[in-house]
Amino acid sequence: MPYIAQGPGSSIRYELASRLGHLPTTTNPQIRERLARYRKPEDSFDPALIAERVVPVDALEQSPTPRIRYVVAVDGSGHEYEEAFDRYPSTRVLYMQIAGVFIDLNDMLDQSDRFVDPARLADAMEASVVSGFLPGSYLEHEVYQDPTEAFRAELFYLFSSTEVQQRTLLQLLLEVQKHGQPADREAAARGEILLSKCPNRDCVLNRPNRGFGGIPVPAQEATFCPECSKSLWPTDILRIYEAFKPDAPNKEALGRCHQVIEHLILLGVALSFEQLSPRLLPQTAFLYDGDLAIFGEPAPLHTGLLGTWQALWSRCLSRGHQPPVVVGVAKRGYPVEHLRGIRRFIPRRHLMRLDDFYMRELLRVSSLTETYFGRKFFYHAADGQLLVLTVPPVNGEAYSKKDKNDLSELHRFPTLARTFEVCDRLGSRLYDDALIPVALAHNWAAYPLANAERVLRVLTEQTIKGKGNN
Ligand SMILES: [Zn+2]
Repeated sequence: MPYIAQGPGSSIRYELASRLGHLPTTTNPQIRERLARYRKPEDSFDPALIAERVVPVDALEQSPTPRIRYVVAVDGSGHEYEEAFDRYPSTRVLYMQIAGVFIDLNDMLDQSDRFVDPARLADAMEASVVSGFLPGSYLEHEVYQDPTEAFRAELFYLFSSTEVQQRTLLQLLLEVQKHGQPADREAAARGEILLSKCPNRDCVLNRPNRGFGGIPVPAQEATFCPECSKSLWPTDILRIYEAFKPDAPNKEALGRCHQVIEHLILLGVALSFEQLSPRLLPQTAFLYDGDLAIFGEPAPLHTGLLGTWQALWSRCLSRGHQPPVVVGVAKRGYPVEHLRGIRRFIPRRHLMRLDDFYMRELLRVSSLTETYFGRKFFYHAADGQLLVLTVPPVNGEAYSKKDKNDLSELHRFPTLARTFEVCDRLGSRLYDDALIPVALAHNWAAYPLANAERVLRVLTEQTIKGKGNN
């Protein structure tokens, strides 16, 4: 029996529907015979387990104000180009682009003609995206003969030369580490990044003994290992070089890089909004296309990312403001498929709390505590959209590192009501096949992120004059 329900709108294109829908996965009789020994996903659906976790949004008793008016969305993509040098198809280069927009939800495009035309917006975004080069396989750098060292040097260059609203990615990395683990915080307070090891495999600090406190390095410049004297860069903390392959494709390393950069950009924009216009911050939603999590080698960064968002929230509260909405929207993965399967058990405008038991036993998500800085929620939106969201807790961890402590209580997520409200308003745009920033830009007034600062100044002036606010 097919378990995927049709989307409510004809424009919605669930990429997975064709693969998991009416046709059997395979017609190979041998595979089918063996597969018969496995339970189908819907066999694990338990209406009673679901019902006790479903809550109507109106029962949340959270402040619905201020209503979200602005959305900042970023989304990145990477591409590995083969044949970097003619006639040598194994020579590859990596390239990434990160799109970002600032959306004013009060201005529908069709109501006004004073905004950027979506067609022209694409060009404007091209010009304003963060983009970057990294070396791939079989490339020899003129200075760094070891290809992995060249990759590390280029990643450092990318972080030192890329600015997000007047902060470089390196400065943002330092800011994040100020809110990391205690040892990271101490180092960051001195302007240093603490590397957990030396990347040089022949160095004794490559496999340091237990109790090793790390190698502190300057946050803004290259230095040398105190043991082996080889180059060290602050960006080595991300350990993406461990995924780098000098003689094979590097899509994974590329994905790790743009994942980290996207999260840093979203945070960097929020910090700059706070400086420019703290009054508009509570009306802004920061939207990430994917989970609020850092996967793979750079995963430890998730601690500092959560800490930095929480510190920003705490400053908002101390100013007497509500915090901004911060949310990740996942479009693929098993939790997304599971939610489509159980949609009949969750009424519209209801959320489902996903405690550790449900995450582990039914969604089969592991290593949550090492990666996620937001908590997963299912939401059946007003218009029928099914959303898998991650939302940071106001304090403490998203998932407990100690086994017995379940941290899924809803009061830990005071922005939930406003998160669902803005998702209801964004509606099917969140599930368009396009990148979220581009999809949003087709419906609302959108500004390339590079211009957001100028736009914010205008909006702030309007607010001060008593106009344009709500
Ligand atoms: Zn070393």
